[in-house]
Amino acid sequence: MTVKQLQEDILNLKNQNDVLVLAHYYQSIEIQEIADFIGDSLGLSRTAKEKANTEYIIFAGVDFMAETASILNQDKHVLIPNYESCCPMAAFLTPEMVKEFKRNNPGLPAVIYVNSTAAVKAESDICCTSANAVEIVKKISNEFEVDSVLFGPDANLADYTEQISGINCINMPESGHCYVHSQITIEDIKTVKEKYPKAKLIVHPECIRGVRELANYVGSTSRMYNYVRDSSSEEKEFIIGTEVGLLERMAQDFPEKSFYLAKDKLVCYNMKKHNLELIKYLLENLDDKAFEVKVPLEIAKKALKPIEKMLDFS
Ligand code: SF4
Repeated sequence: MTVKQLQEDILNLKNQNDVLVLAHYYQSIEIQEIADFIGDSLGLSRTAKEKANTEYIIFAGVDFMAETASILNQDKHVLIPNYESCCPMAAFLTPEMVKEFKRNNPGLPAVIYVNSTAAVKAESDICCTSANAVEIVKKISNEFEVDSVLFGPDANLADYTEQISGINCINMPESGHCYVHSQITIEDIKTVKEKYPKAKLIVHPECIRGVRELANYVGSTSRMYNYVRDSSSEEKEFIIGTEVGLLERMAQDFPEKSFYLAKDKLVCYNMKKHNLELIKYLLENLDDKAFEVKVPLEIAKKALKPIEKMLDFS
């Protein structure tokens, strides 16, 4: 079956069922094309909370995103096309580690990046995404009347947040990172800039500091997208320092501009475990419990508070 035929079948099945399909920017372009909403973690959390009025939500993203959608929609069925789609960054931090950091740093709030398990979120004071981390850290440190916060699991986002906010971010743990973004080196940037000297470099805050310092713009996926959308007609070329899915989205939406990856193979293989066949199967088998994401009630109740606090704060 061709991609077009699969997409048509999926669109027909969507029309026949009470279902919403959410997809992260890092999904393949053919999945983005059949989604009702595309976004980054913050955008999709908001959509899940404010716009999901269907009985079923199919979430084409990694496990923590589907968990967050489920926590925000406990009366709905949240389904993930491939339950092996997990974010390795989330594995850097456990609830026990958060508890220990809090014990060793009394009075400091724990700010948890949404790229974490529900059980870790449940131990936090507030969640954040790469789009709102600076704002969240400023507000929570103000509320707790402190000039340091505990921050995890991404050490690069913690470093970026500390640089911009001026608030000390203590890493939980020391070296949590995303293998996609942290693989971009200063050498890679020098090479690609030599090749495309007129291109603007835009990178994600999960990149290492040396790479961020060479960039024209640092921002979350949605902010990178908006940066390109709002660029002048003279700005025609962009080097993209994030997962290839965002580049594919922007190449479709802004055909008058050119996009180059900061290095080859910037692929999140965990995000790419979904495909159209799996989504079609789910739409034909919405009650297949094997694909339903359910967070244990006690954890969901505790994790809801820091997620909602983030949404209220940003
Ligand atoms: S891109 Fe990085 S942080 Fe995002 S899901 Fe993949 S591994 Fe996790």
